[in-house]
Amino acid sequence: DETLSALAHTGEQDVEVTLRPKKLGEFIGQPRVREQLELVLESARRRGVPPDHVLLSGPPGLGKTSMAMIIAAELGSALRITSGPALERAGDLAAMLSNLAPGDVLFIDEIHRIARPAEEMLYLAMEDFRVDVVVGKGPGATSIPLEIAPFTLVGATTRSGALTGPLRDRFGFTGQMEFYSDDELDQVVRRAARILDIEIDPLGSAEIARRSRGTPRIANRLLRRVRDYAEVRADGVATKQVVRAALEVYDVDELGLDRLDRAVLGALVKSFGGGPVGVSTLAVAVGEEPTTVEEVCEPYLVRAGMLARTPRGRVATAAAWEHLGLQPPERVLP
Ligand code: ADP
Repeated sequence: DETLSALAHTGEQDVEVTLRPKKLGEFIGQPRVREQLELVLESARRRGVPPDHVLLSGPPGLGKTSMAMIIAAELGSALRITSGPALERAGDLAAMLSNLAPGDVLFIDEIHRIARPAEEMLYLAMEDFRVDVVVGKGPGATSIPLEIAPFTLVGATTRSGALTGPLRDRFGFTGQMEFYSDDELDQVVRRAARILDIEIDPLGSAEIARRSRGTPRIANRLLRRVRDYAEVRADGVATKQVVRAALEVYDVDELGLDRLDRAVLGALVKSFGGGPVGVSTLAVAVGEEPTTVEEVCEPYLVRAGMLARTPRGRVATAAAWEHLGLQPPERVLP
């Protein structure tokens, strides 16, 4: 049984890979970031140098990793992938950097979680394509400068605010990824349905798009759940009715909020009278990590106009009360 579910899991991971857009022109949405990147890449290509380091920031599932892969593909370069939490020791980063070939793209996901010594090593690497490797300990320790190949760093972060100033300053370009419009997500869903050979009608894909929290990863995931439902409980075609019935089974509500989103709003409204309340208190109330609440739930709740971040804490808006079927108190935010 366990093997089976592991297999099924691998299957879904593979699907994520299949669905990744491969070229800048195939990338749906993010028109600003795309145009800006196009210029950065084209001018570097004309000058025959690796492009400036790129920071991509925005909530999970908006396409930062896909964009990093596209950057490497557009440059015809190899992509090396690592993540902030994996770079606990500076030595790990030194090994990675010294193995780069000229022009390679190094992708560091969750770069705001990189450990301090590795971060400091990165400064010099980004600026001078050099690392200082410290050999030995104590007063006898010496640092040996090591040349590395000119490369392009692509960093991704869900919290650009958590980056230190010196690190942020070393990126030549920051692309701020925004939530997708319903229309863009509709294109994402239709493209994925085509690739996965799922029969979906226009009202069906629009319904999935509308309930995907502005996020392509969620749109693709909901599409797969809808396909399951359509195959098992209907005639295989994802109509609007089938989508609605499927999403009800998977606890995705009219606005696309999932169980955790609703738990956060529910706690905010019912346990804390609508706030203001600190994010860690709120996280404890729903049994989640504060970073999950802050980086996964809140950005969309803010964009949906349900939650406001104020200096004194999180506050529910009137829309949040109403969404939960409750009467907002008089003094609540409009
Ligand atoms: P992030 O790194 O920001 O968490 P990913 O790049 O891993 O996001 O994207 C998650 C999934 O969403 C990908 O597997 C891809 O299938 C899909 N996706 C993201 N952006 C797009 C897009 N612009 N067009 C089509 N699919 C996309």
